[in-house]
Formats: sequence, C-alpha cells, structure tokens
Amino acid sequence: MTDSAEAPSVRLRPEILATAPYRQGRPAPAESFKLSSNENPFDPLPEIVDAIAAAAVNRYPDAAATALSERLATRFGVERGNVHVGSGSVSILAQLIQAAAGPGDEALYSWRSFEAYPGLVTVAGASSVAVPNLPDQRHDLPAMAAAVTDRTRVAIVCTPNNPTGTIVTAEEFAAFMAAVPSDLLVLLDEAYVEFVTDPAAVDGRDLIGRYPNLVVLRTFSKAFGLAGLRVGYAVGPERILDAARATAIPLSVTEPAQRAAIAALDHEEALLQRVAVITRRRDEVLGAVLAQGLAVPRSQANFLWLATGADTSEANDILLAHGIVARALLPDGIRVSIGEAESVAGLLAATEELAERFPSLRAS
Ligand SMILES: *Cc1c(COP(=O)(O)O)cnc(C)c1O
Repeated sequence: MTDSAEAPSVRLRPEILATAPYRQGRPAPAESFKLSSNENPFDPLPEIVDAIAAAAVNRYPDAAATALSERLATRFGVERGNVHVGSGSVSILAQLIQAAAGPGDEALYSWRSFEAYPGLVTVAGASSVAVPNLPDQRHDLPAMAAAVTDRTRVAIVCTPNNPTGTIVTAEEFAAFMAAVPSDLLVLLDEAYVEFVTDPAAVDGRDLIGRYPNLVVLRTFSKAFGLAGLRVGYAVGPERILDAARATAIPLSVTEPAQRAAIAALDHEEALLQRVAVITRRRDEVLGAVLAQGLAVPRSQANFLWLATGADTSEANDILLAHGIVARALLPDGIRVSIGEAESVAGLLAATEELAERFPSLRAS
C-alpha cells in the first residue's frame, strides 16, 4: 500500500505529529565500539543467564512483580506498596508524568537532560518548562524552583545528569525540596547512582520517607547490565505509586526481567565490582581528557560530555574515524559512554584530535 496525497489522512494530535520518533544510538560498524547508549560492556553473569532461561514464557508474568518488589522493599526498609516496578524506569517516568500532568499543566526539568523527558511530557498532553543548565552543565535548582507556577505538576531532577554527568549535591537537593510546594510531585531520576563516588552527591536512598511528594527512580539497565530486559523501579509514597500503577500498561514487566533482576540483587557484590572497574576507567579517561586540555565536566556517571556545540557533527565524524560510536546530541554536544577497556585508546586518540581541531573545546 502506498500513501496517496489525495487520501484523507486520519486525524492525529498535532503535538504528536510534531514529535520525532525515538532514535536509538546507531549500531557500531565492525571494528568500532558502541559507546552511544551508556550500556554495561560486560557480558551477563552466568547466574543471570540461568535465571532468564528458567522463566516460564508461555505464562503471563506476575503483574505486581511481587518477589522483586518485596526484595526491593526490604533493601530500602519500606513496605511493598512503596515500591513500583516498571519495564525500565523510563516507563515509570511516563506513568508518573501522565498521572500528574495533562493538558494545561507544566512539567519542569533541567536542560540539557535526558532526551526522553520532552517526548514523555508531550505525549501526556502537558507542556515542558526546560530550565537551562548552569555554565558548568549542572542543574540550576534555584532557577528551577523559581520556575514553579501554579500549573506545575511534576519536576524532574536527574543526578548524575544524562548527558552531562554532573551531580546535584544533597545540600542543593534539600534546598530545592524546601523551596517547592509540598504538593508538587518531584521525581529524582537516579539511573546512574551506582557510578557515583562523590560523597557530596544526593542519594535518594537517604531521603526515602522524608518527603510526601518525592519519588526516587532507579534502573537495572545501566550498572546492573540488564538494559535489554527492561526493568526499573520507583520508591516513594504508596498513594503516588498507586497512580503510576493505574496508568501502567498491565503485565509489561516480563518474567525473565523480574527473575534476572532478583538474580542481579543476589549477585550484587560481583556486579558492583564491575561498576568499580567502570568508575575507575571513567576517572582515568576523564583525567586524560582534561590533561589534553579539553573542558569536560567531572562526570559521576558512566559517560563523558563533550560540549562541542556548533562543531558537534564534525567532532562526531572524528570520533567515528577512530572507531568510536558516540551519541551526538545536536546542537549541544556529544555523550560518550565508558565502555570496554579496548575502546579507551581510540577514544583518547579522538579527543586529542578534537583538542587540536577545536580551540573552543579547550579549557581556558
Ligand atoms: C537510561 C536512563 C533511564 C532509564 O532507563 P531504563 O532502561 O528505561 O530503565 C532513566 N533515566 C535516565 C536519565 C537514563 O539515562
């Protein structure tokens, strides 16, 4: 069937027609490294592969993810109703944004931040209010608090921030929570929390039970290496999570995903050793890139941010020529994941070339 110019088109929501479909980080050609999606470069532990293989896939999964929710509740010292499991934390973001904000309402976040936020807000029918990051790429939380209006229904704080790697400190976050109305839903998106080594960083775990309007979001995709299975979770007040459960598509967290997440918690220590390998590699790469003279934020996540601005496409071609497939986020810059040890030499050769070619990228 071909589209005909004369055929009457179905009527779709104009804001959806104006929204681009999700675009994935491109697949890496042979001899290249895929450093475009902040994935974990390690193969899954054999125990996790076994747990996946043991799941019955002819049956529907446990809709409430009971066993996994109980595990997480024990871990965070809360009741099971204070935990909600979703098919990736991005789906919980979608559920909570939909639950809180509709047409005429505003959703507030920092920018640049996670690429998914604007689209999720649009799909909910609400409007985005994006507060620019500070010049050092950190969230400007006082400006975010000042941007709250009586139409604001949800505020998202991403720390470490994707794609800049910067953190919000515990002190800054406490000041933000004190400044915003206590009936404003605040989502603390901690997709990369396991990679944080800075003791000043906020840690949602310390805040659980402290605020009636705060939900903490985490995922098994990044540090725990289960991106392909789609499983994440939220911890927060039961009434808010019930609203997420009400907007969720039932049965979307599969049994293999639930079992793999439990196996990951069973083998957390081994997985956190791998996380430590990545954070050390991050700090080494960061040190080397700073020594090359590039101005790069001190990332606390498993990626680095190159603020290439107008030179982004050209800079991305240089990375590709060195076998590095990164994520170009036009018009602001490039996010490069910390991946396999073998990827580091090519990455540093590329950043060396970037430092020579683009004086604007160099620290002044
Ligand atoms: C990767 C990511 C997520 C969630 O990923 P899922 O795979 O859906 O769990 C959430 N927030 C940010 C900022 C991310 O980068």
